[in-house]
Amino acid sequence: MKTITLLPSNTKIRANNIFCVGQNYADHAKEMGGVPQKEPIIFLKPTSAIIENGQDIIIPKMSTNVHHEVELTVLIGKQGKNISQLDAMKYVAGYGVGLDMTMRDKQSEAKKAGNPWTVSKGFDTSAALSSFIDASKISNPQDLEINLIVNGTLRQHSNTRNMIYTIDVLISFLSSVFTLEEGDIIYTGTPEGVAQVLSGDILSAEIPGVGKIQHTVK
Ligand code: MG
Repeated sequence: MKTITLLPSNTKIRANNIFCVGQNYADHAKEMGGVPQKEPIIFLKPTSAIIENGQDIIIPKMSTNVHHEVELTVLIGKQGKNISQLDAMKYVAGYGVGLDMTMRDKQSEAKKAGNPWTVSKGFDTSAALSSFIDASKISNPQDLEINLIVNGTLRQHSNTRNMIYTIDVLISFLSSVFTLEEGDIIYTGTPEGVAQVLSGDILSAEIPGVGKIQHTVK
């Protein structure tokens, strides 16, 4: 069982489903050669993939090209189904920063074959997560700077205002398909600048005012 921490109350919550959004920043969709979609691209990670601040990211033996993707993460605080965009933000308990680590080679093979992304996206240590900061502390989650520094060099830098599908739209869409539960986590997509990580790299992901994590790649 994986638990997550909601600050500043230090509440421990059991991690439930992990929903991830693909190509939710136009500049990243472009670098991936993606075409505009009618609705969000959704995939899941298992909770076994979660690591917390300071734990190592392990490159699986089957891959020679693991990429970093820094993302704003959203923690759902209560159960909901068919949530309207208007009500959506009431379901958010907190915000964090995460890394959606991706075996890009395995994902490309899966895309070509029309197969699921579960292996390329869900392997152990692929879901790095900070603690979450209570939603009441964040005045506008769609105006947050988002940064990833690798070995001291800024590799990804954007703002959550550049999301194609905003958090309220994502919650409304997800809840039309899945019953959302307390402890669900949403990875809201990565901006441009994704790139390969190598053994020994030190990744520092930060959303100022929200959270910061640092991980060594092994
Ligand atoms: Mg991602």
